[in-house]
Amino acid sequence: MKGLMKYARGPGNLEVREVPEPEVGTGQVKIAVKAAGICGTDLHMYKDEYPTRPPVILGHECAGTIVEVGPDVDGLRVGDAVTALPTIIVCGECRYCLEGQLSLCERRLSFGSGVHGAFTNYLVVPAWAVRTLPPNVDCYSGALSEPLSCCVKAVSMLTRVMAGDIVIVTGPGPIGLLTAQLAKAEGAYVILTGTSIDTERLALGGRWVDQTVNVEQDDITPLVKDLTDGDGADIVFECSGAAAATRSAIDLLRKEGTLTQIGLHGKPFELDFFKAELKELTIRTSFAGSIQSWDRVMTLLRQRKIDLAPLISDVLPITEWKTAFDRLERKEGVKILLEPVE
Ligand SMILES: [Zn+2]
Ligand SMILES: [Zn+2]
Repeated sequence: MKGLMKYARGPGNLEVREVPEPEVGTGQVKIAVKAAGICGTDLHMYKDEYPTRPPVILGHECAGTIVEVGPDVDGLRVGDAVTALPTIIVCGECRYCLEGQLSLCERRLSFGSGVHGAFTNYLVVPAWAVRTLPPNVDCYSGALSEPLSCCVKAVSMLTRVMAGDIVIVTGPGPIGLLTAQLAKAEGAYVILTGTSIDTERLALGGRWVDQTVNVEQDDITPLVKDLTDGDGADIVFECSGAAAATRSAIDLLRKEGTLTQIGLHGKPFELDFFKAELKELTIRTSFAGSIQSWDRVMTLLRQRKIDLAPLISDVLPITEWKTAFDRLERKEGVKILLEPVE
């Protein structure tokens, strides 16, 4: 089979290579990948700004059909349409594993960075990591379960959103668009912000949120003051990972407001923390999903609370990965899926 492989550390070093088909073992299932989404993290791995263990096939957001079930697997059958949470190697004993916070385990390895991932034909994963897609969700949309699980943890599990809260979501990429939808589902008044490069994505976001703002064209401060009698926003979900967005979040929040940082900065940056202290802000971060957020994703999808299909701008064969990566680097399209080739 052919897989999109990071074959050595260092910038670049990514190509489609021939790899042996994985074999299913005890407690595992083999999935024929239908499609896998390109994540911002994949762009970081391409540039070597995020750790990988080469040679490794990338791709950690996927869905497909079970083609083989190993011994000692209950409840999963050949033909089931499924997705899988990527943190498949963990110690299983530490406090974080016991809490379901697998991404915080010291020994965690995820498929698509630590072990072979989903930009290929077949993926073997432990049965416990598999989630069956609800019948109303196809494998293209199902591939977005992973980013949605990250947002569910941040919005619904780590942040207290009350109906009527004024919520600002900064950064209208896939994570921002899913976060905005979840904040709406929680009953908030949602303002989605971006810059001129995000015009297409802000237009898409307009279908779910109360207002969209291009912060390069319009000053958001008076808008927020107007909506809140001069107080400021209750919550900012920062989804861009841009230092300027985190700094501006501190300014836009009301006293006792909450900043939840979802976008990864990837490097140190300067922040006037004193401003946050004087406002008694709650500042928290959220990294990847958890067992609990994955289970909640399936519930939300079954209830049709979140739209995934409109986020898929393109489906390309893995051989066209470079075109796809370049487009996302230019913020063209929203979520691009890669399909395996024979
Ligand atoms: Zn991802
Ligand atoms: Zn652990």
